[in-house]
Amino acid sequence: MIELREVTKCYKGQTVPAIEKLSLCIDEGEICVLVGPSGCGKSTTLRLINRMIDLSSGTILINGEDILNKDPDQLRRGIGYVIQQIGLLPHRTIGENIAIVPRLYKWPKGKIKERVNQLLTIIGLDPDQTRNKYPSQLSGGQMQRVGVARAMAVDPPIMLMDEPFGAVDPLVRSHLQDEFLRLQEEIKKTIVFVTHDINEAIKMGDKIAIFNEGRLVQFGTPEQILTDP
Ligand code: ADP
Ligand code: ADP
Repeated sequence: MIELREVTKCYKGQTVPAIEKLSLCIDEGEICVLVGPSGCGKSTTLRLINRMIDLSSGTILINGEDILNKDPDQLRRGIGYVIQQIGLLPHRTIGENIAIVPRLYKWPKGKIKERVNQLLTIIGLDPDQTRNKYPSQLSGGQMQRVGVARAMAVDPPIMLMDEPFGAVDPLVRSHLQDEFLRLQEEIKKTIVFVTHDINEAIKMGDKIAIFNEGRLVQFGTPEQILTDP
């Protein structure tokens, strides 16, 4: 579904590539976790997939098609992006925040309203209690859930998640992980999930890709990673 072939990214002004000759295959409907220390190239890999940045060499294919041959806007329609600093607009309600992308695509008002209610229900928040609140009125865990809902708004088949639960305390994080795994059972998105926490990787991943200094050093199921350290 997502295939990276010998992908190298060297940022301007840097002598060492952020990632080098990275080859990786992510199957449809699975969670592939990229794990490794800070600065090893995990976020760079995500940003290459949705073309927030351009690669220096190599190829990235989605469903067999080179992403460079796709219109970037078209490409991003199919890719939800969740980051740790979810950046909800503070002066917009939760409902409006979730509706940003559907509005961009000019969905009719009724359809947007219905989708916002549906998404709030999916992430375990009461639509009537939550829709008209502002981000500052929510807890950290609730905000992360809203970040996930916003990324899912137009139902993209792919989700890129960069430390999505990194900003909350361990107990809440554990709840969010459980909830998300349950949700994934239903939605079966193709997910690339970044974390620096190996325990989170083992819990969340169908596959785990261990990075070090811009290179893939190990790849396999959690069982394979645990038995072959
Ligand atoms: P990770 O997500 O694993 O923490 P990153 O992909 O953010 O790693 O970074 C990989 C390397 O690329 C680091 O050395 C980082 O400093 C560098 N880097 C990241 N973004 C930029 C940028 N915009 N310009 C220059 N260097 C960058
Ligand atoms: P992450 O590890 O999640 O990428 P960082 O805190 O490393 O987060 O980076 C935050 C932002 O700073 C990103 O937009 C990244 O591209 C940029 N950045 C990171 N390292 C560098 C660098 N060495 N030079 C310029 N920009 C950088």
